[in-house]
Amino acid sequence: METLELFIDGKFVPAKSGDEREIEYPANGQIHIRAAEAGKEDAKAAIASARKEFDTGNWTKTTYAQRGEILRKVANRLIAERDEIGRMESMDTGKTYAEGKADVDDVASVFNYYADMAYADGGRVVEPSMDGISSKIVHEPVGVCALIMPWNYPLLQASWKVAPALLAGNTIIMKPSELTPSTTHYLTKILIEEGVEPGAVQLLLGSGAEVGPVLTESPDVDMVSFTGGLVTGRSIMASAAGTVKRVALELGGKNPNVIFADADMEAAIDNALTGIFLDSGQVCSAGSRLIVEESIKDEVVNELVKRAANIKMGASFDEGVETGPLISKEHREKVMAYVDRAIEQGAKVLVGGEIPEGELAEGYFYPPTILGECTRDMDCVHDESFGPVLTVETFSGDTDEEKEANALEIANDTYYGLAGAVWTSNAGRAERMARAMRHGTIWINDYHPYVAPAEWGGMKQSGNGRELGPTGLAEYQEIKHIWHNTKPAPAGWFKN
Ligand code: NAP
Repeated sequence: METLELFIDGKFVPAKSGDEREIEYPANGQIHIRAAEAGKEDAKAAIASARKEFDTGNWTKTTYAQRGEILRKVANRLIAERDEIGRMESMDTGKTYAEGKADVDDVASVFNYYADMAYADGGRVVEPSMDGISSKIVHEPVGVCALIMPWNYPLLQASWKVAPALLAGNTIIMKPSELTPSTTHYLTKILIEEGVEPGAVQLLLGSGAEVGPVLTESPDVDMVSFTGGLVTGRSIMASAAGTVKRVALELGGKNPNVIFADADMEAAIDNALTGIFLDSGQVCSAGSRLIVEESIKDEVVNELVKRAANIKMGASFDEGVETGPLISKEHREKVMAYVDRAIEQGAKVLVGGEIPEGELAEGYFYPPTILGECTRDMDCVHDESFGPVLTVETFSGDTDEEKEANALEIANDTYYGLAGAVWTSNAGRAERMARAMRHGTIWINDYHPYVAPAEWGGMKQSGNGRELGPTGLAEYQEIKHIWHNTKPAPAGWFKN
């Protein structure tokens, strides 16, 4: 069985300790590949190499145009090898093969978007009218960037960081989730083959708890960009404080999906289903909190329950399968504990809630689950399950204004602020709700689409900073002001 190696100082290498980890296919729990398990010494070697390349290597001497060309070639490789990369993604995550391949398309579009950005941003001129003065703002790379990714969209989350970080001229140290190393490992090969300086890319596989603090505490790492859970995000922020490094955090969400009675019901119901059950709910922006107008609650919820029960779970490559398992046994236990707690607090399971038996029993499957009779004091309404679990709440009011105010109050009653949606045929209401909802992305009459040119990120405890779009590039740039006096003269402030 193949063992994926680390990439440190321009070479694929085993871990210094020789340790390896077995990687499971979540649909049946079988080991399908092995990966080198990096330790602290490997992390230090990766930092040293990335530092050396940044300070004295060739990568920072390349131009934006040259780096953009490389990103374009990477995008083309991803498109050409989509089926194989999609297969790797499905094997590590258990997601359907269709999802695995669709993810690769999205990854390629991110590389293409940042390739296009190569000519878009040349800084700006300041004070052009002062005689003899050239004053300008230039953008420079931040330095050595540690990029730490989660397991739900392994390559996609990597691309949101890798493409802008490299375009800006940084050197990077990638750390994918210990559960899903394959596609980031493969991307490393593509990056090097398509012309990134070998020292500009380092790859650490294995445990974040082991190598993470080495990266986040090191004075030689200038920035940490992290996507993952809130608890890990907090600890990263704290451990990066000692060196005051730049920290970008993309964390979880408990995302409201608000349906008014005047919405297009078929579209709203169908998208509510996709909103929560896509990728078995393991999506940061999953519409896990249904907030529906009281008068249509029964119609909406009965239909959702019926359709959720018909979603076909199964292994990635089986015909007709619509959703896969959860990532691991441990994660399924967390999701089950969340549902148990909800029941203890008074929620009612309307569909799902039981581990499937029969041919799915070997994998980490958990069915689409809907919890009724949820109230705002319950943990399930505030906390992220990161599984296929939908909570239902209602809003009401005697007037349109009261209904909107009630819906808004519920939608904003969360310590997260990643994404949300509003469904209504009233354009004014849609705009009012979208502006007042405190979440980083709001969909009106839709759920889930994102595009590379539009910024993505969270308010409140869903994180800070933004990925994608021009801001996603700015995250990886330092801003420098250069003042050049072409007619030097004494300042004359002091008289002697
Ligand atoms: P996680 O447990 O926080 O892990 C994320 C990454 O951090 C993994 O690579 C992990 O390594 C690493 N890590 C763990 N401890 C660390 C430490 N002390 N220092 C540095 N790195 C450390 O999150 P996850 O379970 O993989 O992902 C699920 C979460 O990600 C959900 O909350 C989801 O909402 C969020 N997410 C957010 C977005 C967004 O755009 N906002 C997108 C996708 C996912 P190991 O794998 O070895 O633990």
